[in-house]
Amino acid sequence: MSKPCNKFIGAHVSASGGVQNAPLNAKAIGAKAFALFTKNQRQWVAKPLEQSSIDEFKENLKKADILPKHVLPHDSYLINLGHPESEKLQKSREAFLDEAKRCEQLGLNFLNFHPGSHLKKIDEDECIKLIAESINLTIDATKDLIMVIENTAGQGSNIGYRFEHLAEIIELVDNKERVGVCLDTCHTFSSGYDLRTRDDYDKSMGEFEKIVGFKYLKGMHINDSKAKFQSRVDRHHSIGKGEIGENLFSFIVNDTRMDDMPLILETIDDSLWAKEIELLYSLVKN
Ligand SMILES: [Zn+2]
Ligand SMILES: [Zn+2]
Repeated sequence: MSKPCNKFIGAHVSASGGVQNAPLNAKAIGAKAFALFTKNQRQWVAKPLEQSSIDEFKENLKKADILPKHVLPHDSYLINLGHPESEKLQKSREAFLDEAKRCEQLGLNFLNFHPGSHLKKIDEDECIKLIAESINLTIDATKDLIMVIENTAGQGSNIGYRFEHLAEIIELVDNKERVGVCLDTCHTFSSGYDLRTRDDYDKSMGEFEKIVGFKYLKGMHINDSKAKFQSRVDRHHSIGKGEIGENLFSFIVNDTRMDDMPLILETIDDSLWAKEIELLYSLVKN
């Protein structure tokens, strides 16, 4: 007898016209999970969510048959929780808290974000301390949201391209129940953890387990990479069309460590998402 599939695959869908549209956009492509921006990701301020929008979002989640724990909202690209300048750090922290509160209003469990950048003005350790402090402040000002740190490709002065960075941030977070990690396959690969063969995958995931721990893994971004291995360049590609290749995606959808969490495509051609979701489900071996 085959056991039911416990993978929740989707994409980072559009919320244009309002957050309430995101669940329906997910449903339309056959997604069982999704990511969204709860405000315009390129602007600092947004008007508060309307109660009608919040209600409709929750209704549409039900219509799409998607659970809040399979939604992985992403914060604005402007936010830098490790900013070396105090005024700008403050601005980021305020914007981040606003994002966190929006997620709570929507009844969601997670907020996914890139850790931060030192901008070559402070060293990595100092930046890591600022990021952890930002997380602690946000946790104190919210109820039960889990802060999900994404690993990065390590482009520019971004923190988060070593599993050690994630572990060091977590170590400095007071409430470990409220911090988690999102692994982006493109970032993992381009930052220098190979994922192309079964051996590479086992070795890299083994390192993740040893340094961070799968208990912190709350979701994944499922992307191929246009940029080469160890390039530290962040360029996503469609599944199977990049430098990683299709093997990895079969390893992931058959790995029980990735059960019951949002697995989110951020691949470059959104017209392929429905097909990519179908492809990923077809790789599941019962
Ligand atoms: Zn990502
Ligand atoms: Zn990326």
